Amino acid sequence: MAALIARGVETRTGLVTVSGAIRKSGVQEIDLGWTLGDVAARAGGLSRPAQAVLLGGYFGAWAPIDEVWALPVEPQSLRARGLTFGCGVVHLLAEDACGVDATARIVRYLASQSARQCGPCVFGLHAIGECIGRLAARCAHASDLDRLKRWTGQLAGRGGCKHPDGAAGLLHSALTVFADDFVAHQGRRCVRRSTAHPAAVGQLAAVA
Ligand code: SF4
Repeated sequence: MAALIARGVETRTGLVTVSGAIRKSGVQEIDLGWTLGDVAARAGGLSRPAQAVLLGGYFGAWAPIDEVWALPVEPQSLRARGLTFGCGVVHLLAEDACGVDATARIVRYLASQSARQCGPCVFGLHAIGECIGRLAARCAHASDLDRLKRWTGQLAGRGGCKHPDGAAGLLHSALTVFADDFVAHQGRRCVRRSTAHPAAVGQLAAVA
């Protein structure tokens, strides 16, 4: 994923970086009035079915693909839907890819990139990264999902800058778009991969 540089309202064009379940990944110059479907077509079309799209980069948000496919990839249109053009990232998540895992990798990266000067990053973002990391790895502690939801709601507005706020926004969208996947991961399973963590398999065997 990379950057987008909007040239301004007059030209109505911008640069987006398209990646994920797409035939031709890379930077594309687009008309800002194009829909997400148009952008995907310009990039050769989907390489396989997609379930969601990350718009705006790591401080952007996930959205269900069906809800935004016909939406213009234009800052105002996106803002009206609670989304952001941000740095112009358009990352399509394949149907068989795991949104929990994809989000965990981003959040753990963001947690590692703070200057560690403020509580929300030193404690909050770090703990959230550990928590979502366990969920993604299908080795969640009891109540990890509840903690993740609670901590995500407490993160924004408390740092010296907006770094934690960006992470909280991404997490909030993930918890909504991938709600069923998060519940499965709390149970140490992944509905996308139809597998369970070995420890969970052992627990089920013990119950049986
Ligand atoms: S909130 Fe901003 S300033 Fe404070 S530690 Fe995090 S990144 Fe640094």
